[in-house]
Amino acid sequence: MAEEKKKPAVGLQPEGEVDWSDYQGILVVVEQREGSAKKVSWQLLGESKRMADKLNAPLMAMVIGHGVEEVAKEAIYYGADKVFICDSPELKDYRTRPYSKVCLHVIREFKPEIVLFGATYTGRDLAGAIATHLPTGLTADCTQLDVNEERLLMASRPAFSEKMLATILCKQFKPQMATARSGVFQSLPRDDSRVGEIIRIEPQMDEQEIATEVLEFVESTHGINLEDAEVIVSGGRGLGGPAGFKILQELANALGGVVGASRPAFEAGWITHDHQVGQTGSTVHPKLYIACGISGAIQHTIGMQSSDYIIAINKDPEAPIFKIANYGIVGDLFEIVPALTKAALAKKGKQAAVASAVTNG
Ligand SMILES: Cc1cc2nc3c(=O)[nH]c(=O)nc-3n(C[C@H](O)[C@H](O)[C@H](O)COP(=O)(O)OP(=O)(O)OC[C@H]3O[C@@H](n4cnc5c(N)ncnc54)[C@H](O)[C@@H]3O)c2cc1C
Repeated sequence: MAEEKKKPAVGLQPEGEVDWSDYQGILVVVEQREGSAKKVSWQLLGESKRMADKLNAPLMAMVIGHGVEEVAKEAIYYGADKVFICDSPELKDYRTRPYSKVCLHVIREFKPEIVLFGATYTGRDLAGAIATHLPTGLTADCTQLDVNEERLLMASRPAFSEKMLATILCKQFKPQMATARSGVFQSLPRDDSRVGEIIRIEPQMDEQEIATEVLEFVESTHGINLEDAEVIVSGGRGLGGPAGFKILQELANALGGVVGASRPAFEAGWITHDHQVGQTGSTVHPKLYIACGISGAIQHTIGMQSSDYIIAINKDPEAPIFKIANYGIVGDLFEIVPALTKAALAKKGKQAAVASAVTNG
């Protein structure tokens, strides 16, 4: 009886011999909406520039959409050496099939060794769709990226309820792909004197072939944008109830910021989920993060530890949040927060008085 040979799993083995050394450089897939790029795309370019220099390889960007010429130029200003642009009316709004078709074309034609996406709703959808067509893996939701001496991408992401950081390598196949969280990496300063190459990709698709149609976008009326906020005043279980968020909102208003929260505060129904910071909420990178009545569990700090300045207010001097805080205030938040608000408003009042005195001569 002839021995049955075990076939490789479908999709895992590329057909024929592939020379992986043909694959060179890093490609960042830029996410944009209506001509405005997501910050995570520039953050990924910043981090990728460091890795591309280590690999001595080009840094490339891919911009897909309609009327996205300016976004392609911006990608160069933020570090890309080469930008692929695919601009067409069918690509105006994100749809999985046409976008993944364009990306697959660029990956197969230009062979980057690493491809990176933001871990946004769109980035996750697009990266997953592309990965199903390529003989490679995809590491999702990374918080650290690096390359080793074998040119392998070391994609690290929190695992086991964020208690461990798992570093994942895709050793056999190319491109190595990953999605990465917003707010974790630093973008390079925008430099509009940078020059780079723009390569146009002609889309070959017929609207009839695309099964989905975007009818309209409905903006959320209550959602807040934590990821782009410069000041976040965040509250946890120590607030004791929804009323505690009122004093946090007052401080946030005085500082021109927004209110964040820990998961227990959301789970208790004191605030909506779009305010939650952490592993199962948003990753934020504000200039100032004020943590009020938050103990500092890893699932929370993973989402805010890269803030420029952290102030922690907690009545327990042993609270772990003090280990990552730049300034710690031990005491009752119900006394400290209103005092900070008063001080911030007084400072604002003084500044306004000075400005008006200058204007009036
Ligand atoms: C899979 C998983 C995912 C998770 N995801 C997240 C997440 O995304 N975000 C998140 O936040 N958590 C998350 N958690 C929960 C996390 O483990 C912690 O339980 C949570 O962060 C603790 O929230 P807290 O600091 O508000 O509450 P607590 O740990 O109860 O801390 C409350 C703090 O308030 C202080 N306090 C009390 N009263 C006052 C007062 N009057 N003045 C000053 N200080 C006071 C206390 O000393 C204490 O330090 C997750 C957990 C799991 C298992």
